[in-house]
Amino acid sequence: MHGKIMIGSGCVAPVNVTFRRTRRFYRQECGNLPENLEIVHVRLAGKPLSYRETRSSPMGGVTHEIRRALCRTAALHRLPGFERYTPDDKIIGGGISLKIYIMTDMEGVCGVVSHDEWVTPQGRYYEEGKRLLTMEVNAAIDGFAAAGATEIFVADGHGYGGINNLLLDKRALYLRGPEPGPYPFILDETFDAMAWVGQHAKSGTEFAQMPHTGWFNVLDFRINGISVGEFGQMSLCGASLGVRSIFGAGDEAFTKEAAALVKGIETVSVKRGIMPGSGEQYSTDAYKERYNGAIHMHPNHACEQIRAGAERAMRRFAEDREQFELLKLQPPYRLEIKYRSDDKREAHTKHFEHPDSVIKLLNSSL
Ligand SMILES: [Zn+2]
Repeated sequence: MHGKIMIGSGCVAPVNVTFRRTRRFYRQECGNLPENLEIVHVRLAGKPLSYRETRSSPMGGVTHEIRRALCRTAALHRLPGFERYTPDDKIIGGGISLKIYIMTDMEGVCGVVSHDEWVTPQGRYYEEGKRLLTMEVNAAIDGFAAAGATEIFVADGHGYGGINNLLLDKRALYLRGPEPGPYPFILDETFDAMAWVGQHAKSGTEFAQMPHTGWFNVLDFRINGISVGEFGQMSLCGASLGVRSIFGAGDEAFTKEAAALVKGIETVSVKRGIMPGSGEQYSTDAYKERYNGAIHMHPNHACEQIRAGAERAMRRFAEDREQFELLKLQPPYRLEIKYRSDDKREAHTKHFEHPDSVIKLLNSSL
């Protein structure tokens, strides 16, 4: 096997690498290369790297694994443009290999104005809500792709489903369970970065719209004493896998929550809740109805902001990923969940513990 392979453009100088290696060499470089991978030829600068597999890859084109293997090789040999990387780094920048995971939800979407009517299948605006979310996700995909994202996965994180798959940008792949765990929702260490679109704030947040953690019966959700919402739960899962949280779009209270938890995260606010107070004294149903009010920007304007924010986040990440804090807590992990009263049960508290895995901790609480 030999030839010239173009790896890198943009912020990393274009590099031509001559490979005269065996399949075994590639496997050594990257242990999980598919058995049946065969590199058949090579292109010069300006044209895409190409290869062939005997079975088809779901993404088509170049897989994350082969890009990573090539980049590791370039780093190993200190090729120009790769001096600052070590072979164990996830090589990023210059459109080389940027695999991003987008977690989605509905309550934080611009134009989604109430819970029951907009985000549940019985609601008369449910399909409209899904369309609005999908538009926002497409805007994020466009921004990430403009900044060099090479693989984009969209996880449909809303309980009833929130993505209209037919309208989803075809550069992305759609993830929907049931999945094992379920945490971390098919996220794994092959991703470089993660993002949120349509996310709402955690339970008990004032001036938030529809703030809740999992469901409206949860009053507070604390891991090692730190109160987290759905954003914090997944951000912790990502951090434990080495995946950084780089972007979040949702209501203003959510963006504040994200910025307070993860230093450096890029955020875009698309609406603002108008209800003061934590609502601690309310039962589940009363609490759910109370926080529907918000001031919304126009959905098209929200999409423009999201596109720009996503692109900014990805460019910053490609420049220096350390700008985005990797949120880590000290094991063992302890979880405390406080529930408010509802028609089935009085207010109560549950505890869980895990010696070394925040992902297993979250799964044990379900
Ligand atoms: Zn949610």
